[in-house]
Amino acid sequence: MRASVAHALLRAPARGRGIHGVATRSLPTCPTVTRRQLPIESASKWQSRGQCSPIAVSTRPYTSTSNPSSIFPLGHPPKFAFAFDIDGVLLHVAKPIPRAGETLQFLHDNNIPFILLTNGGGKHESERVADLSEKLGVPLTTDNFVQSHTPFQQLAAQGKKLRNGTILVTGSDASKCREIAETYGFKNVVIPADILQAQPEIWPFDPLMEQVYKDTARPLPKPVWDGKMNIQDALKIDAIFVFNDPRDWALDSQIIMDLMMSDNGVLGSLSHKNGKPTPEDWRNHEQPGLYFSNPDVFWATTYHQPRLGQGAFQAALAGIWSKITGGDVLRSKTIGKPFRETYEFAERVLNDHRREVLIRGGHAKDELPDLCHVYMVGDNPASDIRGANEFQSPRGTIWQSVLVRTGVWRPPPGETTGPVEFEPKIIVDDVKAAVQWAMEQEGFGGHL
Ligand SMILES: [Mg+2]
Repeated sequence: MRASVAHALLRAPARGRGIHGVATRSLPTCPTVTRRQLPIESASKWQSRGQCSPIAVSTRPYTSTSNPSSIFPLGHPPKFAFAFDIDGVLLHVAKPIPRAGETLQFLHDNNIPFILLTNGGGKHESERVADLSEKLGVPLTTDNFVQSHTPFQQLAAQGKKLRNGTILVTGSDASKCREIAETYGFKNVVIPADILQAQPEIWPFDPLMEQVYKDTARPLPKPVWDGKMNIQDALKIDAIFVFNDPRDWALDSQIIMDLMMSDNGVLGSLSHKNGKPTPEDWRNHEQPGLYFSNPDVFWATTYHQPRLGQGAFQAALAGIWSKITGGDVLRSKTIGKPFRETYEFAERVLNDHRREVLIRGGHAKDELPDLCHVYMVGDNPASDIRGANEFQSPRGTIWQSVLVRTGVWRPPPGETTGPVEFEPKIIVDDVKAAVQWAMEQEGFGGHL
């Protein structure tokens, strides 16, 4: 679980909360829609297609169980769904949180859609899902798994300049992040190790990860500009992507600052506008866009205090930029929770997934019932809860926030509730209690 500033989590007291922190807001009613009664597909028909048994990693939706005792038969997805954060809700780093696996299994067995929506990253979606499936003992797929950098796929798909240009990628394992970026469609991906190996003078200190850099570097597509060569022949970076928490902040900071002060993204150049008296002169010279995959300053691990994450790296870069420009604000784009883009992406994935369930149930593509509620279960008020509270669904779906006590947010000692900066709909002990509460809200109490 990750958080913005940990102390900020405990700033403002929540309002109108009763037992277990239940807020006073009531659930909005879903607009009434007329739906044609759809035939329920038999289990035997489903099985005859060879599509019944879910496996750990596939492109099939994992809610397609044909168990006749399911609360929601195949082809009749409920009007609600779940989105779960991972760290602090389902896992503590590699260790499953008690009752998490059985809760996901319940949803799977009853054809209740859910997605995993995490600010974590650094592994390819398929690798991460396989790992989660094994740890939680539940069949999961990449169909409804959204990690912090998953929406970067859209940039590759939609933007020819980025797809065909050259991008710089960094993260906890920059080499692996490069491979992920390539699977997203980016054709020319450079990592800091490539630059350091080609131009060691760019960071004139003993490299702390020398062997890693040697093992992972690839030749640069073009050389770093040396001030003499034709600038058109030099390495030009079109965008910078921070996929997850970088390890070598020093090297990464130097290269990113170089690019942010460059002439049109040419590494080794310096924009002639740099050094001008006003902050505006320090930018707007076609420097590459800077993208972060999540804003979390802290995240929770097995250590007893939250640890610095990607948001801290972002804050460090912003501080350096402010210092060298005399107070300018670093321009960048951050996705991930709590930002709208990530929730929009997640809702689209969720609806695609539900549509797929219906189609597999034999229904037409245009018969997707409205999704009234999504219950966002998270441990981080600043990302999970804030994002769900503020998201305005383009389809009118209401996102309800549920805060668990198993993660980065902790009530004061001896208490079960406490001040929360972004007020959730309810605070509960863990993910099972969250699902139990949501099921009760939907009229299915006692099923878990
Ligand atoms: Mg979390």
